[in-house]
Amino acid sequence: MSKKSPFKNYLEILSESAKILNLSSSILEKLQEPQNIHQYEIEISNGKKFNAYRVQFNNARGPYKGGIRFHPEADIQEVKALAALMAIKCAVVNIPLGGGKGGIQCNPKELNADEIQEISRAWVQKMAPFIGPRQDIPAPDVYTTPQIMGYMLDEYEKIKGKSLSGVITGKPLELGGSLGRGTATAQGGVYILLDYIARIGKNPEDLTVAIQGFGNAGYHAANILHSHGFKIVAVSDSKGALYSKNGLDPQLVHSKKLEKGSLKNIYCEGEVCDSEKLMSDGVKVITNEELLECECDILIPAALDGVITDENAENIKASIILELANGPLTPEADDIFEKNNVIVIPDVLANAGGVTVSYFELVQNIQNFYWKEEEVQSRLKEIMLGAFSDILNFSTQKKITLRKSAFVLAVERIVKAMELRGRI
Ligand code: NAD
Repeated sequence: MSKKSPFKNYLEILSESAKILNLSSSILEKLQEPQNIHQYEIEISNGKKFNAYRVQFNNARGPYKGGIRFHPEADIQEVKALAALMAIKCAVVNIPLGGGKGGIQCNPKELNADEIQEISRAWVQKMAPFIGPRQDIPAPDVYTTPQIMGYMLDEYEKIKGKSLSGVITGKPLELGGSLGRGTATAQGGVYILLDYIARIGKNPEDLTVAIQGFGNAGYHAANILHSHGFKIVAVSDSKGALYSKNGLDPQLVHSKKLEKGSLKNIYCEGEVCDSEKLMSDGVKVITNEELLECECDILIPAALDGVITDENAENIKASIILELANGPLTPEADDIFEKNNVIVIPDVLANAGGVTVSYFELVQNIQNFYWKEEEVQSRLKEIMLGAFSDILNFSTQKKITLRKSAFVLAVERIVKAMELRGRI
């Protein structure tokens, strides 16, 4: 199996894009490393210590922008790769922002609410000199929430002594969040998927969908797609997956998950599952690996990176993959899908709805004037479909994958901004 290295994957596709664009090696070098890396150890009142990061990759097109991840595997290599992808993503959807990413290496499941608040505030105490509404704007990512953004905003404003709500996005509505931000990542991906299936002459009612991950991206995608008539045949969380060829009702599954703690616990206690209940609901309990390979038309990885590799790509039955997670496919898996004519709608486009509505949130905060949900949705749709159309046309013209097409267009935009600034 290819070793999981999201940053190596970024460098690989960057150099392919540079070749297509005929970039010199000196320009390529400038795109290979972040502009700044801020790395500290933070300590909370009970003596627990954590590694904290902010990587500022590129700000040629605007302030650095990107989420903060709380995860045991959030190391500097991962955060660097995610920061690079943010710069690409903002350029893909052509919003005036650069790329950054942050993280704290911790397991939030082993921390209580007070500890979570303390590490959130401690992160801001270290990073306050480097972030700001015109400088670098963090947001939520894996295992960080609007509530955590609220703590971070409060700490930042305390340090600066003034109201600066645009320093962070993904905030609760009461603190200047935007309507539509909660569902934006999934909604942006769904706009593209609906457009794509219309282009190939298919109807939602005839298509089945499997989704890995049932958090912000995965749950909302399941729900929105279900409301459009797609049949959701499989969903999963970190503990396991549920499959039903007759289709699952995401809202019902979600409310049962909240009650039981995990999707698997809806039917099982430990390893013992209630076969009668499974039979009457027409559901099978499967693993996350089995979900990826299940019978479906559309597969949506919406959990972690590196889950589809050269080891399982050949077994995947879906003909369309919508990457709501960041980096769920390795480059080897990409090659296999290209050979097998499986369409991959890449992360830098598919999940860019989140950062797009984060940008709307920043704009609203700066104006101190707030938009109706319909305004957010119509602007989001316009941006997502515009970006998709550019990428699809370029990919058809150059006979390259959608991922390569998205990267080439984004790198071209970033390089242009760097040239205009006289940085290259
Ligand atoms: P989240 O924390 O809300 O949900 C993550 C989900 O993944 C949970 O259901 C969790 O149980 C599941 N999960 C964790 N480990 C798993 C495993 N080993 N196998 C299967 N499922 C597992 O996170 P999210 O915000 O939904 O983010 C999911 C992905 O989407 C990440 O790659 C993130 O970077 C990407 N993304 C999210 C946003 C956003 O706005 N939320 C934007 C862009 C990209």
